[in-house]
Amino acid sequence: MTDTPSKSDATRLAHLGRDPSRQFGYVNPPVVRGSTWLAPGLAGYEANVAKQTEEYSYARIRNPTSSAFEQAVADLEGGHRAVVAPSGLSAITTAVLAFVKAGGHALVTDSVYYPTRRFFDGLAARFGVSVTYYDPAIGAGIAALMRPETTIVYVESPGSITFEMQDIPVIAAVAHARGAVVIHDGTWGTPLYFRSFEHGVDVSVHAATKYLVGHSDAMLGVVVCNAATFDRVKASAVGLGVCASPDDVFLGLRGLRTLGVRLERHWASGVELARWLETRPEVARVLHPALPSHPGHAIWKRDFRGACGLFGLVLRPVPSKAVEAMVDGLSLFGIGASWGGFESLILRSHPRAIRTAVPWAEEGTLLRIHVGLEDVEDLKADLAAGFERLRTAAG
Ligand SMILES: *Cc1c(COP(=O)(O)O)cnc(C)c1O
Repeated sequence: MTDTPSKSDATRLAHLGRDPSRQFGYVNPPVVRGSTWLAPGLAGYEANVAKQTEEYSYARIRNPTSSAFEQAVADLEGGHRAVVAPSGLSAITTAVLAFVKAGGHALVTDSVYYPTRRFFDGLAARFGVSVTYYDPAIGAGIAALMRPETTIVYVESPGSITFEMQDIPVIAAVAHARGAVVIHDGTWGTPLYFRSFEHGVDVSVHAATKYLVGHSDAMLGVVVCNAATFDRVKASAVGLGVCASPDDVFLGLRGLRTLGVRLERHWASGVELARWLETRPEVARVLHPALPSHPGHAIWKRDFRGACGLFGLVLRPVPSKAVEAMVDGLSLFGIGASWGGFESLILRSHPRAIRTAVPWAEEGTLLRIHVGLEDVEDLKADLAAGFERLRTAAG
């Protein structure tokens, strides 16, 4: 079923990446489990290896279930084509490795997802790639940090944990003028709420583990590329042996069908809870780009079509045991990594130890909240009881 850009997102989500006429008439693409793909003859096999003459091949390289998911996500985000990966982090490393070389340099936002930073500082550094972390609010000032050997400008907006917004169009204009590619971790905005390629992004990576799968039951990543970057990213994935299980990819495809309605609820409940938290005396600051109090609110309004259910809050300073009394006793918020599923989550973060470009100046504890699909009044009541425990424990 082909998609046209004029169709609304809700309609596209229902129809992208599937073609019942090629699926034995069934609505959903099948999970094609397989490794070996059989060729019609030796010459045909060899031609396919050399020039991709057939639609499929050895399953590490192309698989029908993966192709359906890749096509759906690329179409949704307005990219050219996509490459699936077995996790969000592997989507990131596959994308980065496509554009670095020994002696090269990358500019990476100081607010980057921590495992991405660990990859640049560890593995990439060992292979001779240098990195400079920059203030996420740098904007056009990024020009001063560009070097002749800079090949990547890595952006993530809003920032992981700390939710700074970045002026991606301005940063991308500078990067492109100097011949660098812009890689964006778009997990927060999802392909639905941030149209990366309309804002100057060349390669958009997503932890599909989060909202695309949407049910906390699989690890998955995807790299969406524009026409100029796809071949290099695909070569990186093929060279590294990056592929994903068709069962997990299927969960990504299935998740896509409800992405729109789930995100609407995550967005609404998230904003509602964030506004309520702003009124609480225990809270110093709420870090939610969709709130007018957020320093990056104007950028969010200009560039994003919605917000997900993930945001941060800074508590007024209290002893650590008071924070633990609050959080450990919550009944609806799980304490755990990842997010984007149907359930609410909470975690404590420590950006002070990580940041190098801009020191993290907040005194109070930083909490990250994922607002799930539960009733928002129930979530408020759970947090309100938590604040009571916090006050009692703080004395
Ligand atoms: C979770 C996450 C990732 C990594 O995804 P995994 O599937 O856990 O590897 C990357 N970027 C962001 C912003 C994330 O939140």
